Amino acid sequence: MPADVPGSRSERTEGAARPGGVASAPEGGPSQAVDSVLDALDPDRDRPANVIETHGLGLSFGSKPVLSSIDMQFGRGTITALIGPTGSGKSTFLRSLNRMNDKVVGFRHEGDATLDGRSIWDPGTDLLDLRRRVGMLFQRPNPFPMSIRDNVVAGVRAHRIAKGKQLDVVAEQRLRKVGLWDAVKDRLHDTPFRLSGGQQQLLCLARALAVGPDVLLLDEPTSSLDPISTEYIEAMLAELVPALTLIVVTHNLGQARRVSHRTMFFYDGQLVEQGPTEDLFERPTNLQTERYVMGRFG
Ligand code: ADP
Ligand code: MG
Repeated sequence: MPADVPGSRSERTEGAARPGGVASAPEGGPSQAVDSVLDALDPDRDRPANVIETHGLGLSFGSKPVLSSIDMQFGRGTITALIGPTGSGKSTFLRSLNRMNDKVVGFRHEGDATLDGRSIWDPGTDLLDLRRRVGMLFQRPNPFPMSIRDNVVAGVRAHRIAKGKQLDVVAEQRLRKVGLWDAVKDRLHDTPFRLSGGQQQLLCLARALAVGPDVLLLDEPTSSLDPISTEYIEAMLAELVPALTLIVVTHNLGQARRVSHRTMFFYDGQLVEQGPTEDLFERPTNLQTERYVMGRFG
């Protein structure tokens, strides 16, 4: 994880330039060169250490509050697991982070959630851009009714990130990244619906990765899959960090322990406890957390 919140670009440019006495270098001079080298070494250096934060976030449908007063930070390049019994608000919380609930009639939020320090509900926020940067993977794989290749590049096309032959390159690269290339390279133009459930989920992962997100929200991504696909996807998630930040809802406590750095326990409309995964499982401070992680209910 990046150590600290970096300062602004101009502060760091001066800092980097000072020893050589080139602080007043003209445009395109050494200080700009230093900047571009540092950018290449660490593209995240200008960004806050927490990619997403929530501040007093409350979520409700109609008059029914689902969650209240959630203060949480998601460190860049980490995996956070969201656990808790059914109905405790995990999906509602997750879906609010890329504004997937906004269209639900009666949905309301209070407080705020920020992406790189900026409110996701800021009037200037472009919803398409938010969803590009904060992608989502669901419990049931949901390939689009189009070819395997077109599925992978659907978002890339919609966002006009690539076109023509570039799309084939992106499709191959992303399918290789999720380990699906060999299985589908001879049937790129076939329907995805004859793939196994695990392969369909990998295809959806490739599609989500294709647009270069910063964050992936995963809602029980393996609960409809067999154990081998589950193990494969878990390994995949571990490989995606630290380039990406992952937030994963899971009912599989073993999975939460295996894959996540931090865990949040939701119960009865509250974020009851959150912390480093090992602490939460080994030394919970709350009685309900302890009962839940011991498998006493849920
Ligand atoms: P979890 O994912 O932890 O099982 P959810 O976030 O799905 O929990 O649900 C939390 C609460 O919000 C539940 O009481 C559920 O009925 C309610 N809820 C979820 N989605 C909607 C919706 N679209 N409209 C109304 N109520 C909803
Ligand atoms: Mg859910």
